[in-house]
Amino acid sequence: MTAPRPLVTRFAPSPTGFLHLGHAHSALAGWRRARAGQGRFLLRLEDIDSTRCRPEFAEAIQEDLAWLGLEWDGPVRVQSRHMADYAETLAALSDRGLLFPCFCTRRDIAREIAGSASAPHGPDGPLYPGICRRLSQAEREARLARGEPHALRLDMPRALERAGPGLSFAEAGRGRLACTAARFGDVVLARKDVPASYHLCVTHDDARDGVTLVTRGEDLLPATDLHRLLQALMGWPEPAYAHHPLLTDAEGRRLAKRDRAQTLRELRARGVSPAEARALAGWPD
Ligand code: GLU
Repeated sequence: MTAPRPLVTRFAPSPTGFLHLGHAHSALAGWRRARAGQGRFLLRLEDIDSTRCRPEFAEAIQEDLAWLGLEWDGPVRVQSRHMADYAETLAALSDRGLLFPCFCTRRDIAREIAGSASAPHGPDGPLYPGICRRLSQAEREARLARGEPHALRLDMPRALERAGPGLSFAEAGRGRLACTAARFGDVVLARKDVPASYHLCVTHDDARDGVTLVTRGEDLLPATDLHRLLQALMGWPEPAYAHHPLLTDAEGRRLAKRDRAQTLRELRARGVSPAEARALAGWPD
């Protein structure tokens, strides 16, 4: 028997805007679980998408969390500084024949889907119709040699075969949930413009950082099927998960970064105290 791993939770926002009460709810969920269990709480900035992330938001996130009364353990992991780690993971998957380069433009994909009788949908829209998965090795090599821009996609049929049947994960209060990662199709793991993807980096970092309990919004519950598959393929340990309902406004709409009034900055400027903000975020002291 291996000894249970020490409790580690994390909060992993993307610096695309100011933190609002929904983020505070999520951050506090992880922080409180860690503190209650004598565990560690980590902060990670998921900023690989330089087209959407901004350094001023990265700084603001740390300032706002400190104001809210949260302290994190160890240095902040800033994903954009570790692209070599993700490239290494991609190389490992590629060496095992689990990735293929995809040269398609959005238009190529839309055209193929429009011309096919059935267009299965996944959590993120219509599934990739497999155009580049079917290329011959010679054509692939020729296009790579010409330097054609390409994404890297997971070869889902092969990945599922390699991982074997019966993948599942432990969800707090719900027991083990069966994974159906096939719903994602040949998911992009490295984009044309950003040589990595959220799914790849989050799974890599949770493993690297020894995260044992992933606390996050229930909007990411479907993505967990794919994260579990990547863990299985890479031989990474399996964390437990606790997805929480998303905080909503008075009209029942989920909070978004565009709701200025709900940002921690705005609340603070209006004279709300950190304790009041924690209560508004659903975690009264
Ligand atoms: N970076 C993701 C977001 O801001 C969260 C990732 C996660 O918690 O797994 O939506």
